[in-house]
Amino acid sequence: MSEFSLIKKYFSQVGSKNPLVKLGVGDDGAILHPCDQEQVIVMDTMVEDVHFIKGAHAHDVGHKILAVNLSDLAAMGATPAWATLAVSLPEDNEKWVAEFVKGFGNIATLYGVQLIGGDTTRGPLSVTVTAGGLVPPGKAVLRSGAKAGHALYVTGIIGEAGLALGFRQNRFQLSGQVLSRCIQRFDRPIPRVKEALAIRHLMHGAIDISDGLLADLVHMTEASQCAVRLYEDKLPITGAANAMSKAEDALDFILSCGDDYELLIAAEPESEAELKALLAPLQCNLQRVGEFVAGKDSVLVKRDQREVPLVARGYDHFGQ
Ligand code: ADP
Ligand code: MG
Repeated sequence: MSEFSLIKKYFSQVGSKNPLVKLGVGDDGAILHPCDQEQVIVMDTMVEDVHFIKGAHAHDVGHKILAVNLSDLAAMGATPAWATLAVSLPEDNEKWVAEFVKGFGNIATLYGVQLIGGDTTRGPLSVTVTAGGLVPPGKAVLRSGAKAGHALYVTGIIGEAGLALGFRQNRFQLSGQVLSRCIQRFDRPIPRVKEALAIRHLMHGAIDISDGLLADLVHMTEASQCAVRLYEDKLPITGAANAMSKAEDALDFILSCGDDYELLIAAEPESEAELKALLAPLQCNLQRVGEFVAGKDSVLVKRDQREVPLVARGYDHFGQ
């Protein structure tokens, strides 16, 4: 198949038509209508053997590359609108493209995203998406918005995607429903777009967890020029994660494994009930896991009340 027939057949109408788009795929460039909102632009790449294994399902790759971009838009409080897609393929593999576009298209349609352009080339397998979303002027949520006195909340459950990765690397034994749930979380993450839009007015700061809770939390405290107290016994981890190992490094793994695509949120402690009420219809749990404090010294408060320094990397995150 030629490059052009591939584009025409698979990429010309993907996702759902978005009113912002005046001209989509097909010309030298796409055209967006002017509008009175601010636009948030995000970009993420996934490369074979780096972000996904050789032989990963094309459908999963298509889903995930858009999902991780939508997760960034969610963390900014933006409503997704459009995406562009660069695909580099080692060979003319039409079956792979068809499956990939199915995965990409399903989630695009689900979130009202229109594919408006891209590039198709031969090369090592990789996919790159740029996505755009809209936010009312001045209402975007930044990493830098946390202040001493804010509570730290996290959506959903942490560590399940990491468990799947650990399983695939023969680090953990998992089976049955737990295994399939963890695999699902790794391969087909669900970005917290609806959740973020529901509570945007209450979020003072936010970041999505892609690199691991600890790493992303440190990004947030650095940007916000404050510190955090994180409580081990409050962390929303599954029974599976608890059971998999009682070893100290199990928690370390869960807090640094990444791929959660949950949101870390700074908000007033007084808004907790309202936050939870707004998220309940979306079946999204919200857990208060800590508080932001003045200074630079972030700590993890262990189950036995010991306080250990919290840093993004290094083997003594949690002390011994
Ligand atoms: P040009 O050579 O002018 O850059 P291309 O042949 O690369 O044009 O692309 C033709 C049209 O197809 C453009 O509108 C481009 O945005 C779109 N396109 C190419 N590849 C993709 C893709 N993978 N996904 C979406 N649109 C694509
Ligand atoms: Mg081109």
